[in-house]
Amino acid sequence: MIYVIIKRTVIVVAIFVSLLAEFGPLAFCETQDQYLGFQFVSGKNCTSDGMPKKFCEISKPKAWTANELREMKQSLDAIFPPGKLDQFKHNIQAGGFIKIYRYTDGVAPLGASFISRAAWFWVDPSDRSINAADLGVLSPDVADPHGGFPSFNNLVLLHELAHAYQSVNPELDQPFIRVAKYQTPHGKWEVENGPYWRDVKDQVTEARKLFLEGRTQEALRLSRNYAVPYGYPTAYAMFHPIEGFAEIVAYTYFDQTAPKYMDPNLVRWVRQNVLK
Ligand SMILES: [Zn+2]
Repeated sequence: MIYVIIKRTVIVVAIFVSLLAEFGPLAFCETQDQYLGFQFVSGKNCTSDGMPKKFCEISKPKAWTANELREMKQSLDAIFPPGKLDQFKHNIQAGGFIKIYRYTDGVAPLGASFISRAAWFWVDPSDRSINAADLGVLSPDVADPHGGFPSFNNLVLLHELAHAYQSVNPELDQPFIRVAKYQTPHGKWEVENGPYWRDVKDQVTEARKLFLEGRTQEALRLSRNYAVPYGYPTAYAMFHPIEGFAEIVAYTYFDQTAPKYMDPNLVRWVRQNVLK
């Protein structure tokens, strides 16, 4: 039922957003800055009631500050040091994911029912936008509780770029589902088909609550400690294959301990098909 509602919302929003991109007046759309092929721009003004009401009510466009831009560029440097992930970056940008928009609170327009108001960043495949919210940009950085990597912010940004990569390369969906062992009775990526769904749902809900309260370190510890014994990086990675793709890609890249708990076949597949 939830899936049906989300699916309908996705279709409606996709149609609307593509129309808006074609004809709609876009406020503050001038490029403010660019780096490594990405453009940092202010959010789009929500001017039509065709957009989900809560998106327009909650996610207001705002400008990037100099400090925010400096931190985002540092994260891009960490993700794309010279000679690393060149194909990954080129593939995303050739697929149209170039602009990174800035908003106040985050309400992902797609699949928003579960993470409503909790989005740090989100990627919208319908207009190829990468979107940053206060929660993602202004939250203090934390270290990984397993000690596998120093900056959570870098990991969150790579997670979003992995969503962009997945959306540009849909032929990878089924091979990924198989190698990551997600259960998909209808051959589709569906909500509530992650492995161990019933157990993990409580963990994800609790972690999400902690994230929203600003208790990022505790949230991360809960999510990590639950999932690692199952061979996944986070509880979030376990509840939905789309989030699993983004989490597994980001942790395979940044978490030096990932090969110790993830299936070697999965690590190899991610390195061969995504992290190149
Ligand atoms: Zn995600």
